[in-house]
Amino acid sequence: MKIVVLKFGGSSVGSIKKIIKVAEIIKTYKKKKYNVIVVSSAMSGVTNELVKKSKGISENFSDEEYDVLVSSGEQVACSLIAGRLIHEGFKSRSWLAWQIPIVTKGLHKNSRISLINKKKILKYIGEGGIPIITGFQGIDNHQRITTVGRGGSDATAIMIAKFLNAEKCIIYTDVEGIYTTDPNKFKKAKKIKTISYEEMLEMASLGAKVMQPESIQDARLNRIDIEVKSSFSKKSGTLITKRSNIINNKMITGISSTHNDAKVSLIGVKDKPGVAASIFKPLSKKSINVDMVVQNVSPNGKETDLTFTIKKDDLNKTKKIILDNKDIKFRNLIFKKGVSKISIIGVGMVTTPGVTFRMFQALASQKINIQVISTSEIKISVLIDQRDTKKALTVLHKEFELDK
Ligand code: ADP
Ligand code: ASP
Ligand code: MG
Repeated sequence: MKIVVLKFGGSSVGSIKKIIKVAEIIKTYKKKKYNVIVVSSAMSGVTNELVKKSKGISENFSDEEYDVLVSSGEQVACSLIAGRLIHEGFKSRSWLAWQIPIVTKGLHKNSRISLINKKKILKYIGEGGIPIITGFQGIDNHQRITTVGRGGSDATAIMIAKFLNAEKCIIYTDVEGIYTTDPNKFKKAKKIKTISYEEMLEMASLGAKVMQPESIQDARLNRIDIEVKSSFSKKSGTLITKRSNIINNKMITGISSTHNDAKVSLIGVKDKPGVAASIFKPLSKKSINVDMVVQNVSPNGKETDLTFTIKKDDLNKTKKIILDNKDIKFRNLIFKKGVSKISIIGVGMVTTPGVTFRMFQALASQKINIQVISTSEIKISVLIDQRDTKKALTVLHKEFELDK
């Protein structure tokens, strides 16, 4: 059975006109004799509105009710798509996650899909139906509605492709594919033809919103090839696949940037074993994710400065935890919001020496000061002043020949 999974993001179903266009796209696959399974996100802006409503009710809105609330946008979009296909004479219906079911594990707001029952969907497509499945939603062992993290319809599509053994999984969005950097922020960004799971995962985790990072982990684990393309153009998109399928690796594949980080510096901390642990343990207990860390060498062997980054949203919580922590002594505590993390990503880095030097030299040539550095095998991240973001993107894009 030739199955294709088509996922439409919020931007693709953002208006009635766009939903009518989506139905046209679905029809082209039917014409090619595909059994089509559609996954849809909520209409653009709807999930954000629902999140806002929950905050209006309570700053500590229940996680269980949050999932019921924010997953409702997907129900609306799916019924509109199915309704349009029915209008055009096709057999179609919406499927909510619990009706299939799409079973999830883990905490509310951030669950992961563990199992999808394929029986009802296979029967339905066998009868010629086009199922329109809600992305983002799941149901847990306690029969409660769950969601799989913001941007999680990507994960729904990929896991449906896995459990139903689809031939193709296509993510339709508002850009033509994965670009060297966000094309809406940097006009010279170039579309990438093929990208490895590893690079895509880094790019997504480091700020490229185009794919949900967890969804790429699912795709990599299950070896699902993903095509990312535009709902608004017929041009070919980007293939996300395993490394060995990619022939011409550039040294650097892409650049990501984030704007939701904040920097915390503890000045004059006692330099003795266990200090870092006593700072980070209470943060991790409260699920605050510490990202980049740098500790200065202490000139006198007694005191040191410790700097780390967290998400901006966690700033107040972090402040309180540090100030309440009687185990740590410091002379000064500094918080800074206007920072941006710029990362260059590429599997080619592994075998090419001098990448770090080139990155630092390029930034220095523009007088951009590097505040914190972190690296992994295939990425280098630097924290800089947010005002320098555009300058940094421009110089790095040129330095690593991504303009070409
Ligand atoms: P959807 O509504 O289809 O889920 P998203 O808003 O989640 O779409 O993701 C698409 C957006 O991701 C684009 O509009 C673009 O601004 C942004 N983006 C960020 N980095 C990249 C990148 N490297 N390549 C393509 N798009 C990117
Ligand atoms: N509608 C959800 C969100 O805005 C899921 C998604 O877009 O993939 O996060
Ligand atoms: Mg998305």
